Amino acid sequence: MSVNAKVVIVGCGISGIAAAHRLVNAGFQHVQILEATARSGGRIKTGTLGDNIVEIGAHWIHGPTEENPVFCLARQYGLLDPETLTPENQGVDVEVSPHQASNFFSSSGRKLNAEDVYPAEEMFYELIYESSKFESQGGEPWACVGDFIRSKAEQRVAEKWKDIDAATRCLRLCVISNMLKVECCFNGAHSMDEVGLGAYGLYKTLPGQDCTFPGGYEGLIKNLMSELPRDLVTYNRPVRCVHWNNTEKEENSLMIECDDEKKIAADHVIVTVPLGYLKKHHSTLFSPPLPLHKLHSVERLGFGTTNVIYVEFDSPWWDADCENIYLVWEDEDGIVDQVPDIQRSWIKKLFGFTVLKPTERYGHVLCGWIAGHESEYMETLSEQEVAHTMTQLIRRFTGNPTVTPRRVLRSQWFHDPWTCGSYSYPGKGCSVQDLENMMEPLPTDGSLLQPLQVLFAGEATHTCYFSTVHGALLTGWREADRLISHYSSSSNSKPLKSNTDV
Ligand SMILES: Cc1cc2nc3c(=O)[nH]c(=O)nc-3n(C[C@H](O)[C@H](O)[C@H](O)COP(=O)(O)OP(=O)(O)OC[C@H]3O[C@@H](n4cnc5c(N)ncnc54)[C@H](O)[C@@H]3O)c2cc1C
Repeated sequence: MSVNAKVVIVGCGISGIAAAHRLVNAGFQHVQILEATARSGGRIKTGTLGDNIVEIGAHWIHGPTEENPVFCLARQYGLLDPETLTPENQGVDVEVSPHQASNFFSSSGRKLNAEDVYPAEEMFYELIYESSKFESQGGEPWACVGDFIRSKAEQRVAEKWKDIDAATRCLRLCVISNMLKVECCFNGAHSMDEVGLGAYGLYKTLPGQDCTFPGGYEGLIKNLMSELPRDLVTYNRPVRCVHWNNTEKEENSLMIECDDEKKIAADHVIVTVPLGYLKKHHSTLFSPPLPLHKLHSVERLGFGTTNVIYVEFDSPWWDADCENIYLVWEDEDGIVDQVPDIQRSWIKKLFGFTVLKPTERYGHVLCGWIAGHESEYMETLSEQEVAHTMTQLIRRFTGNPTVTPRRVLRSQWFHDPWTCGSYSYPGKGCSVQDLENMMEPLPTDGSLLQPLQVLFAGEATHTCYFSTVHGALLTGWREADRLISHYSSSSNSKPLKSNTDV
């Protein structure tokens, strides 16, 4: 098939790249990506900390199995460690896998006993599992996951832990607060009070033990880009407005206006801008504006912030087998995931760290995780201020006044003007219909002369893998396939008359 239609893709993240790949391979002759920044990859971004390769954006392939296209591509390009490719790794059922080796430290400088903590972890995971079951049942008893967990936990604590001494019970409640903060990071939400209970179960996990790219996630982007024509992407070319048309006027009914005033005519545009950007700029990004039902879905879906703060040490203060470190504040027995005074105590939102493994590769590097408005505030501080606060935090929790990080590096996704946060989550009142509305092409009236003018891809348009790289990639393929099948029938081959910019 050779197709003359001109397709413009807005954004060169994984979804835009995936769409371009599919279209070029299917014989589309005029595909162009317009990217606001100077680089490809979007939220896939690899950086360095000293000699170490670290991820500023996406970290893991979630569910590295045959069903996961990111895993299949990474394997094909030879980007993964051999143990990741084993059937044992792919066979791990993450929903029933045993506790990863974890260290818990408390705000009074104690390393906590695992036996004191595990019952709280178990209760929390039970409640999270139950939270995911309302999607299929409907009629959820609370609007948000936070309220559900809080009320159920209070009931269960009163029943199950009634004979436990007050100090241990209080500590376990503080652990539950810590787990809520972990969940905020997974969801990219400020608080679990903002995550809809009815839609929480929409997100589907794939089996397999999550894995990383030893040479960096951006290796995937580099490989994919090397297979596309060199001049396919125009960098530093932000799109200001997509002028689409509801009328039946045939010529130039679709026009993409860039920040530098350049105007590009096209037959189809695939918009892959992040939901955070869309929330902020939808009123100027589309002319005429988005239809109301789509706009309501943009509003109902959540898009918050999760950031990383890397800290490197000369020697470890955690156990050799430790995978995760949790920091438990002993004044948080109220099952809370927000701090009362962000400017003074934003650091309390950082739930802890993942330990970068293997040690032979990374040395002693921890990746701290912090979500929400606290995380957004952290972005406004200087690197020195962040490093100072991290040092104080670790000294307090380890009870060691001399421990000092060698280096600190943090991400700033909220203040990235082309992302405006980290990833999407189902907000209160959200349903699968909202995700379907997100992916619905414009104009919605299929009877018009030029259908499929504006298509939508990107992680926030996948009905069950939203917020992930594999979800984003699949949406790029989905929208490309929509166009490919449109042109497979020759009666639809009605490309733009002139393929030149106007
Ligand atoms: C801290 C963090 C950790 C994460 N961890 C994981 C993980 O472990 N595993 C996982 O699967 N996922 C993870 N994710 C999510 C994953 O990175 C994203 O879901 C995925 O990369 C999104 O791809 P995308 O193509 O939809 O959007 P993006 O990658 O954001 O691409 C959109 C592109 O559009 C460009 N753009 C925006 N506005 C305009 C404009 N007006 N004109 C032109 N271009 C524009 C942007 O510059 C960007 O390049 C993480 C994300 C973050 C931030």
